[in-house]
Amino acid sequence: MTGKKFDYFIKGEKGNWEVIIGLEVHAQVLSKSKLFSSSPTKFGAEPNSQVSLVDCAFPGMLPVINQFCIEQSVKTGLGLKAKINLDSVFDRKNYFYADLPQGYQISQYKNPIVGEGEVILDMSYGTRKIGIERLHLEQDAGKSIHDMDPDNTFVDLNRSGVALMEIVSKPDLRSPDEVNAYIRKLRSIMRYLETCDGNMQEGSLRADVNVSVRKVGEKKFGTRCEIKNVNSIKFMQMAIEYEARRQVELLEDNKQIDQETRLYDTKKNTTRSMRSKEDAHDYRYFPDPDLLPLNLKQSLIDKLKKKLPELPDEKKERFIKEHNLSYYEANILVSEKEISNYYEEVIKGCDKKLASNWITGELFAVLNKKNLSISQSPVSAKNLSTLIKMIISGKISGKIAKDVFEKMQDNDKDPQQIVDKEGLTQESNPKEIEKIISQALSKNKDKVTQYKSGKEKLFGYFVGEVMKISKGKANPQLVNEILKVKLK
Ligand code: ADP
Ligand code: MG
Repeated sequence: MTGKKFDYFIKGEKGNWEVIIGLEVHAQVLSKSKLFSSSPTKFGAEPNSQVSLVDCAFPGMLPVINQFCIEQSVKTGLGLKAKINLDSVFDRKNYFYADLPQGYQISQYKNPIVGEGEVILDMSYGTRKIGIERLHLEQDAGKSIHDMDPDNTFVDLNRSGVALMEIVSKPDLRSPDEVNAYIRKLRSIMRYLETCDGNMQEGSLRADVNVSVRKVGEKKFGTRCEIKNVNSIKFMQMAIEYEARRQVELLEDNKQIDQETRLYDTKKNTTRSMRSKEDAHDYRYFPDPDLLPLNLKQSLIDKLKKKLPELPDEKKERFIKEHNLSYYEANILVSEKEISNYYEEVIKGCDKKLASNWITGELFAVLNKKNLSISQSPVSAKNLSTLIKMIISGKISGKIAKDVFEKMQDNDKDPQQIVDKEGLTQESNPKEIEKIISQALSKNKDKVTQYKSGKEKLFGYFVGEVMKISKGKANPQLVNEILKVKLK
C-alpha cells in the first residue's frame, strides 16, 4: 500500500461530485452444454449449428436443468463468500424479440440461487470491500445480426439457452479504476474456480453499468442510469466517465435525471437513451411452470466447498507468510491463475524470493515487451527454475544468468545446455581466480601504486578488470575477498 488517497471526483462548476456505480455482470457458465438442453456451447461455430428443439422453442419441448451449471453457480457463490440459497426458483421474464423464440427468458427473480457476498479489491489507497447483492442463473438469448445485409436481419440461435450467471454488485463502486479492479478480481476468482473463462472478446463476460452522481458529502443516492451490455473494461470506464459528466451537467443546470436505459456508443464515446427504465412488472415475472423449484442439499454444498481450489486472496496470504514475499509481489503473482501456477512450478526446490524477483522482473519485462501472456511465455517454468537453481548453487553468476536468460527465449532453450555449450560456468576455484587477479594487477601497476597511496576508489576498477579478463565468469564474491588480501 502506498498510502495514496482516493481522489476520483467529477469537478463541476458548483463543486465536486461523487460517482456511484453498481454492476450487473453476465458471466457465461463454463459448461459444454446449455442450461436446459444438451446443445453444445462452443464459441465461433457455424450460425444455428448448436440449436436443439428446446433452444428454438418448438411447441411442447420441455427444459431439463443441467446439474453441472447449478454446481458451477454454487462454486462461484462460494468463491464470492456468499450465502447459498438451498431453495431457489426459475421464473419467466417475458418480452418479445426476434432472437428470443420462447417469448420469455428463463431467469431467477425473487429467489436467486446465491445471496449476499463480497469481493475484496486492492487499491493503491487501501483494500475495499465491494458487496455482492446476489447471483442468479439465467439463459442467454440468440443474436440478431443487422449489419450483414441492407434489407434483412439475421438471427443466430447458437447462444440461445446458454447458461449465464448474473452477478449483481451493491452500489459500492466509486470510480472507473475501482470498476477495473472489480471486473479483474471477479474474473480472476471465476478463472481460479473454472466456472467462467472470462473471455471478454468472446462475450463470456459482459456488464450492465449503473451510474449515478451526488454532491460530495451527500448521503442520498441520486437517480441512476443503466448502460447496457458493455463488453470491455476500457469501454466501461469510458462510458462511466461520460455518463457521470452528463449527469453532473444536467444537475448543475437544475435539470433532473430520468431513470433510463442507455447505450454506449464506442465510436463517439457517448451514451444515448435507449428506453425509459423498465420495471419488474413490465416483464410479468412468474415461476416457470415447466420447472420445479430448485432444492439443493446441504451435503452437495459441503462437497463443493471441500473441493474448492485455493483462491487468490488466500493464496496471497500464504505466499506472504510462507515465501516471505511483499504484499505487492504476492498480489501480482496471484492476480491470474496462470501466473500463480507458473510461480508455483518455478519454486519447486528453488528459492521462493529469488523466483518471485525473476518472474515479476526479468520475465514480465520480456512478456510486456513482446505483448505475450504468461501462457505464451517463451521460457517455461521448468527451465526458469533450472536457471535459478544454477545461480543458487553458484554454477553461474547472476550476471551471466541474465545473458543465459536472453538466449533461453529462443524456443525455450535449456539453460543447462547453453551454459555447458558456451562454457559459462562460474569460476569458483580460488587458485584460478588468484591467477586472473595477478594478471589484472600486473597490467595496472600504476593504479596499484595509486591505490596503495590512498586512492581506494580504484577497488571497483580492479574488480571490473578481473571480470573482463574472466569474461564475466569469475565468482564476484571470491574476487572481492581475494582482491582485498592481494592489495593489502
Ligand atoms: P434492476 O436494474 O434489474 O432494476 P437492481 O435494482 O437490483 O436491478 O439494481 C441493479 C444495479 O444497480 C445494482 O448493481 C445496484 O448496485 C445498482 N444501483 C442501484 N442503485 C444505484 C444508484 N443510485 N446508483 C448507481 N447504481 C445503483
Ligand atoms: Mg438491471
